[in-house]
Amino acid sequence: MPLLTLSDVTVRFGTGTRAGTVPRAALDAVDLEVAEHEIVCVLGPSGSGKSTLLRVVAGLQATDAGRVTLDGTDLSYVPVHRRGVGLMFQDHQLFPQRDVAGNVAFGLRMHGGSRDEQARRVEELLELVGLPGAGHRAVTTLSGGEQQRVALARALAPRPRLLMLDEPLGQLDRSLRERLVVELRGLFGRLGTTVLAVTHDQGEAFALADRVVVMREGRIAQNGTPLEVWQRPASAFVARFLGFDNVVPATVSDGAADTPWGEIPVPEGSATGEQSLLVRPGGVRLVDAAQGLRCTVEARTFRGSRVAVLLRPDCPGDVPPLEAECGLYAAPAEGATVGVVFEAEDVVVLDERTERPARPVRGATASP
Ligand code: ADP
Repeated sequence: MPLLTLSDVTVRFGTGTRAGTVPRAALDAVDLEVAEHEIVCVLGPSGSGKSTLLRVVAGLQATDAGRVTLDGTDLSYVPVHRRGVGLMFQDHQLFPQRDVAGNVAFGLRMHGGSRDEQARRVEELLELVGLPGAGHRAVTTLSGGEQQRVALARALAPRPRLLMLDEPLGQLDRSLRERLVVELRGLFGRLGTTVLAVTHDQGEAFALADRVVVMREGRIAQNGTPLEVWQRPASAFVARFLGFDNVVPATVSDGAADTPWGEIPVPEGSATGEQSLLVRPGGVRLVDAAQGLRCTVEARTFRGSRVAVLLRPDCPGDVPPLEAECGLYAAPAEGATVGVVFEAEDVVVLDERTERPARPVRGATASP
């Protein structure tokens, strides 16, 4: 049995702006399960309902329909502080007048225990988050990353059944975030913590999660392991959200697709008919200009040891640009003419039918 279950959870705000309209649901019949010890990251653009989902589970947001259960218990009538969930928000709101230990101990205040026991537990938590002996430091003297660790220690202090993180590393700079996210994953793995996190940062989600849930307009657009989502985005929306730009309409028949870039091979077993097609940049292979699709190199962007190459096809009509990926030394110069061939293993036929069509909000009454 999953630890956390959301069944058919719907939340609506407001009453619709015009007569006869119903408000769009911030969460629209969401079903989600989180298994014990699992790290699930909810990912999506701003306004897609991520925070609302967390707030529902925490008990900070009432639902219009649906049910949330934790360990089999319906949480409908369980107040926030009795839900056994820990929360860490982006603005971690440490108490500036308390020292580090005082902030961490705040997480223990409901749990009794002698002063000595509490002090031991605080020290244990500080060690866990990599701040041993920092108990007496003033929180105002800590760096952003250290403050984040204190906030994490405070959230872990009462040993929550479920730890919920809202944009946990949102305010830190990228290199620190990349380091901390790896540390966090290791820490949660060692502790066996069950985590539900939300973020708009796909790098963070993919590095932290066992499972990624992509949201769009209050609905789940895809739910899968990082590898599954990365390899097979469920729709053009998910593909574009992940940063893939090579997405075009295509007519797919057996083994090949007719696209604005010409005929492209597709993996065996791909859905046929009118579809959207994704070509991962790694599948856009640059060859001699006399072969394949002729393109001009419009721009190059250096990304570590790889180079993203933006190509403008040299053909009439409104043909979308293509992004290719090259090794550092193989990237052609801007303005060069190249040929392009496509590798089937990096082509994904996106099954648009996985996205549910828009439907009216259930239970909402339109005003006359
Ligand atoms: P995210 O966390 O993905 O940015 P939110 O859950 O904050 O998204 O918001 C989802 C939708 O609900 C948005 O359209 C937002 O404007 C709306 N919304 C969120 N909170 C409120 C509120 N308290 N009152 C009215 N609308 C809200």
